[in-house]
Amino acid sequence: MTRLVVVGNGMAGARLVGEVRARDAKMSVTVLGAESREPYNRVLLSNVLAGAYGPEQVRMLDPGWYAEHGVTALLGAEVTALDRDAQTVVTGAGHRVPYDVLVLATGSEAVVPPIAGAGCGLAFRTMDDCQTIIGAAGTARAAVVIGGGLLGIEAARGLAGRGLPVTLLHLADHLMERQLDPEAGLVLGETLTGLGVRIRTGVRVTEILENGDARPKGVRLADGEVVDGDLVVLACGVRPLTALAEDAGLEVDRGVVVDDELRTDDPSIFAIGECAQHDGNVYGLVAPAWEQAVVVADLITGTDRAARYRGSRLVTRLKARSVELAAMGETHVDESADGCAEVVRFSHRARGTYRKLVIRDGRLVGAILLGESQAVGTLTQLFDRGGPLPGDRAGLLFPELPGAVVAESPVRMPDAAKVCQCNNVTKGQIRSCWEAGARDTVAVAAATRATTGCGTCHEVVKGLLGWLNEQEEVPA
Ligand SMILES: Cc1cc2nc3c(=O)[nH]c(=O)nc-3n(C[C@H](O)[C@H](O)[C@H](O)COP(=O)(O)OP(=O)(O)OC[C@H]3O[C@@H](n4cnc5c(N)ncnc54)[C@H](O)[C@@H]3O)c2cc1C
Repeated sequence: MTRLVVVGNGMAGARLVGEVRARDAKMSVTVLGAESREPYNRVLLSNVLAGAYGPEQVRMLDPGWYAEHGVTALLGAEVTALDRDAQTVVTGAGHRVPYDVLVLATGSEAVVPPIAGAGCGLAFRTMDDCQTIIGAAGTARAAVVIGGGLLGIEAARGLAGRGLPVTLLHLADHLMERQLDPEAGLVLGETLTGLGVRIRTGVRVTEILENGDARPKGVRLADGEVVDGDLVVLACGVRPLTALAEDAGLEVDRGVVVDDELRTDDPSIFAIGECAQHDGNVYGLVAPAWEQAVVVADLITGTDRAARYRGSRLVTRLKARSVELAAMGETHVDESADGCAEVVRFSHRARGTYRKLVIRDGRLVGAILLGESQAVGTLTQLFDRGGPLPGDRAGLLFPELPGAVVAESPVRMPDAAKVCQCNNVTKGQIRSCWEAGARDTVAVAAATRATTGCGTCHEVVKGLLGWLNEQEEVPA
């Protein structure tokens, strides 16, 4: 019998184990996780930090799941070496676990900047990190968040929501510079300011100042200015955990290099999730990790030997209360310098609204939607499917206008439209599961997993079910 060993019990590893068990009840499966708790939805840690969820609400598996499914789970077991000759993984405690097929799902670690005093800053990656930050927030006077990417913004908003004065410091000239153009970054900053987060961009932190008891008292900037804060959160990016693969002689670039089967250069070893690099890309979102888990499960159980991973089109959504933001694809295009791109833009700073579409050959290749907008669903679908756009560009940006295209209306939404980005669930799949008897979001989540990633599709799924339920009530 094939012995499958999975290293890493996070979002990719845990999903893989579930997918394998769903296809093969007998395969010997062992998962080793460095964290001592059962897997949880890491994406929702921002919601835990903000106080919207408790830790138990983001658990991915019931405690009894492993025993019920005949899976050996070694929690709190960090793998420290791979012995490829003996096809065995070795834990820090000296435990050796043999494998026929090995999957690396070690994710990433938070980057700690190489500055003095960094040790008294708090990283934000794990549930333990999250609980440490919440504990510190309880007695802190003021917080400083270093890093204005998705994670830093969600952390800052969450802490401000707990009533703490928060300063967000960011090295680049505008927030989320990878996903947003400068104007969108500016509007986002203004929105956050209105919610109690002081924003400073274009600033470099050179030191975290300690107050003597290993707690910080502030941070020093490159120009000597000191920003006060007795809670400092580090949100300075992540780095894929590749040391195991590298030490074992596997090909590693930024991540562990894999092919379309998610196989490394050792055919018995796969890598998925944030530790993997596919076609030059290392993804930092959960949707690719879960898509990869499905492909590997298909391959190693023999359910679909033709399964291949071809890359993901990412949609980034911020989960910060009172800040609506979605960004996808090419967003930095400037039509004055790029004659092939058509850019449609609307900005209303006073209302915190910024909308931008980037179109090539009549297809949507990028978008930013900041501020409340009914356009998100439609545009995400158009981006996702890469289909031709309707000629009415204003109607795309303003679906509330009379006569506009409202593809997110359940009636018009094609069955192939992706509703849950994280779990890759389409309208057609939701309709099928409704036809099979699912009548509410809990039942749909149980059948399809829609809504169980970042949760931002919850309202769309609810709307879809409402519409289907209404259809049922209409007399023939
Ligand atoms: C606060 C926060 C908010 C986020 N928000 C979003 C969002 O809105 N949308 C989105 O798509 N993504 C979001 N992400 C990113 C998302 O969580 C990751 O993309 C996802 O968790 C990647 O899954 P993974 O399994 O590759 O890595 P992880 O979930 O990090 O899991 C890796 C696991 O492997 C374990 N491990 C590492 N090395 C070893 C070893 N040697 N031995 C044993 N175990 C090991 C680690 O302890 C960890 O438990 C967010 C992340 C954070 C931290």
